Amino acid sequence: MRNIYSVKYSEFKKHIMGQGYPGFHADNVFRWIYSRRVKDFSSMTDIPLSLRSYLNDNFEFRLPEVVDKRTGPDGTTKFLMRLEDGETVESVLIPEKGHYTFCISSQIGCKMGCKFCATGASGFVRNLKHFEITGQILRLLENVDDRVNIVFMGMGEPLDNPDEVSMSIEVMRDWVGISPRKITLSTVGLVDQLEPLLKKFPNLRIALSLNFASEEKRTEFMPINKKYPIKRIIKVLGELPIKRRDRITIEYVLIEGINDSEKDALALGNLIKGLKVKINLIPYNENEFFPWKSPSYEKVEKFASILRGMKYSVFVRFSKGNEIKAACGQLRAQRG
Ligand code: SAH
Ligand code: SF4
Repeated sequence: MRNIYSVKYSEFKKHIMGQGYPGFHADNVFRWIYSRRVKDFSSMTDIPLSLRSYLNDNFEFRLPEVVDKRTGPDGTTKFLMRLEDGETVESVLIPEKGHYTFCISSQIGCKMGCKFCATGASGFVRNLKHFEITGQILRLLENVDDRVNIVFMGMGEPLDNPDEVSMSIEVMRDWVGISPRKITLSTVGLVDQLEPLLKKFPNLRIALSLNFASEEKRTEFMPINKKYPIKRIIKVLGELPIKRRDRITIEYVLIEGINDSEKDALALGNLIKGLKVKINLIPYNENEFFPWKSPSYEKVEKFASILRGMKYSVFVRFSKGNEIKAACGQLRAQRG
């Protein structure tokens, strides 16, 4: 039987019209599924009984199965979810002031192979389908109310899976009721894929994982920099309409002795001069895959103060969930 979550709205509407029902029932069914989040056709009281029974015979409600859930002392909860082919994916729920942030995955593994990232170290398995992305959100929404922000900062490079990611954002916007302005897509800078997505979702928020201010160093640690060098990414970002540029976040993972010197801070500040951005400094989350260390608190503060001196808004993001290995941005689902 088909998984109802995998069916797109336009296809579903056509389908029920083919069965002789008026198309507006499709809107109602989708509202029940994504907005009221029922998992049962029989509770859809404004749908004709015959259609409910037809749907019941032809579609099933299959969301990713939560197989593990761990909460850290700060309330951050990591979810491990099993997909239909047995692969597992991780998502993190982070409580913040007045809302929750959901950190979700777009791929199983990642092809980009950044030489500091646990996801990158595990290689690439496959893209997630749109309903496996929204499925993570629907599962997390079972735990909290709807005041949520979504960040694509879990496993995978979202712009390496643009079609499914785009579809999932569309479902969130149209049916779950999460505006693209509440959704941040974090990318290493695949700018060819960025432009069509921004055309479709002008309010979508973008975070660029810059991490290094020199081309050589960035290429060394982020091989994708060969294809999408800093220069090209900055040029594209600089050409976006001003209002758009306001919303860009520059992410910079601070690794001790690698990219955390005062010179690096100045180079970063100069590199993004003219862009109206905010900067998130993320002290490195140490892990068993790489020897890198997180800089001292003083070093991080020095780095931040240099950038603040250059009039940037700078935030230091000590990744939550360290204690439970749930730090957003260093997810790596156990396989097998
Ligand atoms: N592929 C996308 C989104 C997922 S990674 C991207 O790279 O932007 C989300 C963020 O986590 C990125 O900014 C990445 O640089 C950062 N990150 C990866 N490994 C990390 C680690 N060990 N410690 C801190 N941040 C890390
Ligand atoms: Fe992939 Fe992002 Fe990790 Fe790089 S930092 S390997 S792009 S998930």
